[in-house]
Amino acid sequence: LAKEQGSEVKRFSKGMTTIAREKLILESDLRKGLERGEFYLEYQPKMSVEHGNILGMEALVRWNHPVRGPVSPGEFIPLAEESGLIVPLGEWVLYEAFRQNKEWQNKGYDPLCMSVNLSIRQFRQPRLAEQIGRMLEEIDLDPQYVELEITESMTVDKDAAFEQLKRFKQLGLHISIDDFGTGYSSLHYLKNMPIDRLKIDRSFVSEVMSGQSDAAIVSTITSMAHHLKLKVTAEGVENEEQLEFLRNQHCHEAQGFLFSRPVPAGQFERMFLKKLG
Ligand code: C2E
Ligand code: CA
Ligand code: CA
Ligand code: CA
Repeated sequence: LAKEQGSEVKRFSKGMTTIAREKLILESDLRKGLERGEFYLEYQPKMSVEHGNILGMEALVRWNHPVRGPVSPGEFIPLAEESGLIVPLGEWVLYEAFRQNKEWQNKGYDPLCMSVNLSIRQFRQPRLAEQIGRMLEEIDLDPQYVELEITESMTVDKDAAFEQLKRFKQLGLHISIDDFGTGYSSLHYLKNMPIDRLKIDRSFVSEVMSGQSDAAIVSTITSMAHHLKLKVTAEGVENEEQLEFLRNQHCHEAQGFLFSRPVPAGQFERMFLKKLG
């Protein structure tokens, strides 16, 4: 048996070698990148479906690797999550998003709510709320201008999730459920968790004009959100037909390439921010 196990291990490590090594390299690059300031944020506007004006923005992290060039978050976030680097990276994201939002407010722009994505490992840190509270104080940002995006999978451990969300609400933050409809979905938690918004996953929105069931899903989520007094945002809106569909469903907010791709801070400021009055 020992011999068999030994050969199992060998075969496994042999097959994994290149990928594992790749991963290790990227992981150590990630660590260095964080120290060297290779990360930055882009912002995507969230728009009123009815009026077409801006309602807020979502911060999305970007990595400009010195050799590889831009690496997509779909690639490095899971790796950062696995290695634990997501904790310092996530902290940096929160701080930078808050700082940028405050900078825009200081410049006299109409204040907007900025959404920031949390990863599961970050969310599980019991001291996260306290840390966020300190950041907000240091930056002097009003918590009503911050929304945290979590995913359904983070609420599997119901009691721990509830406690964490309660701390966020006590701070005065908004909470949304990202990629809604794709994860572990229990209607029970919608009733019991202190959340403010559902973000309907892009995969449903992109098919509303072609797939009957996707149209049904989007309109069901929207009306359910209304009944539960939750706000609702449609993600991944790419064309006018989809927007028209959402308008007919009285979906409040939309986000997607139809309005803009995520863009760097300077460009976002020029394209979307307006001075008060
Ligand atoms: P997400 O939170 O669901 O973010 C939306 C993603 O959809 C973004 O991809 C955005 O660029 C893309 N998107 C927006 N509108 C459209 C559209 O109309 N069509 C299409 N095809 N795509 C659209 P991105 O920036 O590559 O981010 C991918 C994922 O990486 C995010 O999904 C989020 O889960 C994660 N992520 C990004 N930034 C952060 C971060 O700061 N922290 C954490 N924990 N995760 C992040
Ligand atoms: Ca998100
Ligand atoms: Ca999403
Ligand atoms: Ca997503």
